[in-house]
Amino acid sequence: ELVIQILESDSNFNSGVGAVCTATGGHELDASIMDGETLACGAVGGVTTVEHPIALARLVMEETRHVLFVGRGAEQFADSLGDRVPRVPNSFFDTERTKRSLEEVLGRRALETASTTAKDSDPHEIKGTVGCVVLDSHGHLAAGTSTGGLTGKTFGRIGDSPIIGAGTYANDETCAISCTGVGEEYIRYGVARDIAARMEYLGMGVAEACDVLIHEVLQPGDGGVIGIDRQGNVAMSYNTTGMVRAVGNSKGRFDIGIWEEFEDL
Ligand code: ASP
Repeated sequence: ELVIQILESDSNFNSGVGAVCTATGGHELDASIMDGETLACGAVGGVTTVEHPIALARLVMEETRHVLFVGRGAEQFADSLGDRVPRVPNSFFDTERTKRSLEEVLGRRALETASTTAKDSDPHEIKGTVGCVVLDSHGHLAAGTSTGGLTGKTFGRIGDSPIIGAGTYANDETCAISCTGVGEEYIRYGVARDIAARMEYLGMGVAEACDVLIHEVLQPGDGGVIGIDRQGNVAMSYNTTGMVRAVGNSKGRFDIGIWEEFEDL
């Protein structure tokens, strides 16, 4: 949760400040978190005034019997927690960059005819959703994901990020997974849970299972995934031209990358 809060506060990423714009120029934020020891999980979709959606997702996990709250209900849940959930005006999430991207997307849409199949976003663009997967010193796994979704999204569209099993999954028996990319595809293929299932049923390693989903199931340009297993093996697969990523451990490893800087995963 804390790593993702830092990324939510960083305007370079598509979550919290810097979240992409909806078709009407606002921001609707999605997040989820999962505890691999207990399979406890929590998620929020379409929140507009919560500074740290990942914190609210954790409160759904820890303080309710439920897994996912969306829209007005999620805001009411935040209201009920008072000062424990910092609130901000929706414009708090604005940046010049995301406003420009919305103009570009709306401009492209205006040029399309009904018969075109052009995707809204550049298929090779790096997606900016943030995620974190962790193995702790007790051998437990956890995963979290936070996003503004896709630029120009309409009508309460929710992507994979708050859907447990699609954009986020953690189970101490297999792995912790967080995804970024075209959410509809990740929901369609149940990507995060499918990676865990391939490890469980087929005996695949985390890197192999992530590679199968990214390079054989999904299409080029769809996105990427980060994963870790209970031995601390790390996977970072993507089929975009790059993926902003980092890995650290208690032995002093600390690597960051965007393109193909390190491959010894
Ligand atoms: N997966 C996110 C969504 O579809 C977007 C992203 O990863 O950039 O909402």
